[in-house]
Amino acid sequence: MDSFGSMWADLAPVGQDPSTGGYRRSAWTAADATLREWFTAEAGRRGLDVTTDRAGNLWAWTADPDAGQPGLVLGSHLDSVPDGGAFDGPLGIVSALAALDRLDRAAFRRPVGVACFADEEGARFGVACAGSRLVTGVLDPDRARGLTDDDGTTMAEAMTRAGLDPAVVGRDDEALRRIGTFVELHVEQGRALVDRSSAVGVASSIRPHGRWRLDLRGRADHAGTTRLADRQDPMLALAAAVLGAREAAFRHGALATVGKVRVRPNGVNAIPSEVTAWLDARGPDEAGVRQVVAAVGTAVGADPVEESWTPGTSFEPSLRDRLAGLLGGDGTPAPVLATGAGHDAGILAAAGIPTAMLFVRNPTGVSHSPAEHAEPDDCAAGVAALARVVEELAC
Ligand SMILES: [Zn+2]
Repeated sequence: MDSFGSMWADLAPVGQDPSTGGYRRSAWTAADATLREWFTAEAGRRGLDVTTDRAGNLWAWTADPDAGQPGLVLGSHLDSVPDGGAFDGPLGIVSALAALDRLDRAAFRRPVGVACFADEEGARFGVACAGSRLVTGVLDPDRARGLTDDDGTTMAEAMTRAGLDPAVVGRDDEALRRIGTFVELHVEQGRALVDRSSAVGVASSIRPHGRWRLDLRGRADHAGTTRLADRQDPMLALAAAVLGAREAAFRHGALATVGKVRVRPNGVNAIPSEVTAWLDARGPDEAGVRQVVAAVGTAVGADPVEESWTPGTSFEPSLRDRLAGLLGGDGTPAPVLATGAGHDAGILAAAGIPTAMLFVRNPTGVSHSPAEHAEPDDCAAGVAALARVVEELAC
């Protein structure tokens, strides 16, 4: 088995739910700790020095990142959404380590790093890309420390249990200074590469996206005795929110999803007292996304509470075109694609770091699901592409 295959096999059981095949690798959980230990061990086996920044992101370096010019950093994340797939995140990290295994590091003229970003999915505390947002200073440390999960555990408590000091969390200029260029390889979350018969593509931009919370209040009551006219049922507002989101998204050429709902008291024979729902909205332009959110607010009669917002982000055009040319074939550049999915690469790009992304073909396009997939040959093409990128940018 090659190094990609053996690393992939090592990761396969970590955090997997045997009943669904999906992964539960939320930030700062036992599964996450196992993944971080795995990363540190794999880096150590390769003689890479691992450091942890102020936000808990891990960085594995081939050489002293403070000695000369800033480094080339590859990497992604290891955490997952609830019941997520195996590829979203880990593909980028495993491919980066496998790419380094193919190269002679004596030829590197600058340090090469592999980053493992913490809490990319935001599945537990509600803010996506928390690790990269913290290290770049766009997520306020006090707000981050106070975020709570569904059990009421704060991010500060979760970090403490994971052995980190939440008091030091915040923008980390030392970590940022070391990144000359960042390149994140990621499984494609869509089918554009299938349509273009290409194993690897290059990202052009990340569309604007955000998350909003809907606090829908009602009055708990008996399902069998309360007349319809007397009910204050927040489930009706939830239904209006879901249908309103769909309709407004269609009208504005955007995407809107209500994928998480909390119902109190959550009993079959009880009218709920309270429903909390989360709206994810994305689109080609900010105005359209804002109009979708406003329409949902009108549908439920309450203002959605913004929990995170990421403006549209373009990756550096010269780097994008250089990599598309490098990775194309027969004089044709590799496909260049926009995506509606947020990534740590987008956060770093917005912070002014020259950044690029590579996508590896996903035959179904399905992501954030156990059905997420990339064929072994396409994974190998991704590793080869990353190795070429390192040769191009660091040798
Ligand atoms: Zn991801």
